[in-house]
Amino acid sequence: AKQSGRNTYRFFTAQMNVDAIARRELEVALRFALEHDEFVLHYQPKVDLVSGKIEGFEALLRWERPGHGLLFPGAFIPALEETGLIVLVGKWVIGEACRQIGVWMRGGIGPVRVAVNVSGRQFVEGDLYGNVTQAIHRNAIRSDLLELEITESSLMENTELTVAILQNLRKAGVTVSIDDFGTGYSSLAYLRRFPINKLKIDMSFIRDVTSNVDDASIVLAIISMAHSLHLQVVAEGVETAEQLRYLREHECDQMQGYYFSRPVPATGVEQMLYDGKQL
Ligand code: C2E
Ligand code: CA
Ligand code: CA
Ligand code: CA
Repeated sequence: AKQSGRNTYRFFTAQMNVDAIARRELEVALRFALEHDEFVLHYQPKVDLVSGKIEGFEALLRWERPGHGLLFPGAFIPALEETGLIVLVGKWVIGEACRQIGVWMRGGIGPVRVAVNVSGRQFVEGDLYGNVTQAIHRNAIRSDLLELEITESSLMENTELTVAILQNLRKAGVTVSIDDFGTGYSSLAYLRRFPINKLKIDMSFIRDVTSNVDDASIVLAIISMAHSLHLQVVAEGVETAEQLRYLREHECDQMQGYYFSRPVPATGVEQMLYDGKQL
């Protein structure tokens, strides 16, 4: 019994080591990736539902990992969040988006609005305000061309600190959006406290909006609530003409989704703007 007990113990220890080693290897690879420029941003257009024109782009992180191809956030954002590396990578994302805005501005493409995703940890552990203002000044860009997307759930943690930082960022001219809205049970009264410009309706409500009456009523309630607070509303994950028609009819302001375009590299943005692509 003593012997088998010891073996069981050894078995679990070995398994735990395998997991710990895999996690450690990923962390090392992510640090290396940051230092060796393996991260890239892809951009997905946001389209105005009245004019049909591209209003701006959301920057989405990709990892060009040697020997592994192009990796999507689902494969590495959880590890970045767990290790706290998201604070450094998030700073890189802000710098890279501002660099690209400056390149487009001075390269004859013109002013392009870019939204970046911000992790809750960047508010608490990073110098988000410093990172943003420094990136804007270094690249000599207009601050209103940069937008920050923060999820409803991270806004609800560390609310006081987050609100104070967002207030300063708004004063600096940056646009603020609430991402994945509808999943975090925020009330109207609660929302009024936040210095925000836009709500992005979570794509889980858009998927069946034309067939599921509950999803449709949630979407309509979010649109009317947002408009009564003078906020713009963006629907994400729009994949069909039916979803698009529904959102237009119900006065949603902007859409984003595969129906119009998947996220594309920077050269794809240039092509889209050159072609004058619209809805
Ligand atoms: P998100 O911010 O909600 O971004 C939207 C995600 O939906 C993106 O996935 C986008 O490619 C995908 N998407 C866009 N249109 C459609 C559509 O019509 N149908 C479907 N099914 N999906 C669509 P992606 O690029 O894999 O990013 C996943 C998540 O990773 C993002 O969700 C965001 O939470 C996170 N993320 C991405 N980049 C960053 C970043 O730079 N920093 C941080 N902290 N998080 C990031
Ligand atoms: Ca987002
Ligand atoms: Ca979202
Ligand atoms: Ca999401």
